[in-house]
Amino acid sequence: MTQSATLYCYVHPNRPTTLRCNRCERPICTQCAVRTPTGYRCRNCVRELQKTFDTAVWYDYVIGLTVTVVLSAIASVIVSAISFLGGFFMIFISLAIAAGAGTIIANILLRLIRRRSRVLFFVIAASIVIGALPVALFFLFTGNFFSIIWQGIYVFVATPTVYARFSGIQL
Ligand SMILES: [Zn+2]
Ligand SMILES: [Zn+2]
Repeated sequence: MTQSATLYCYVHPNRPTTLRCNRCERPICTQCAVRTPTGYRCRNCVRELQKTFDTAVWYDYVIGLTVTVVLSAIASVIVSAISFLGGFFMIFISLAIAAGAGTIIANILLRLIRRRSRVLFFVIAASIVIGALPVALFFLFTGNFFSIIWQGIYVFVATPTVYARFSGIQL
């Protein structure tokens, strides 16, 4: 059923190839293959995906900002609560929670927002930081600088995690 017979590019039927588009699975020659973070795609599929790009409308920003700020605030509270448990080992737990929170936030955003734009990615990255601010400011005014560093670690890990996952761009 598959393999066995030689594949030919679906755009250039005279060119034998071993590549397939990883989205539509049609055979493509090296000239038609476009390298994406998730593998080779044909030009049609790349164009399809780009249609979702720079299409974000105003409420996508509102949803992205609100959801990310709220979830980031919750995650930053959890991370700072762990910082009070103390101990060097807790750094690793915090890092894991930050990365986990980043993944969860990105997954929720992927479900809520179908459209994409570069500005939207920036808004979401900024929202992670904004969400962590109340806790960081609280520690700043109470003079707990150790916990501020903890918040910094959270932002440092969670932001690229959300960004990479939501945008599909590998850092
Ligand atoms: Zn394709
Ligand atoms: Zn081709």
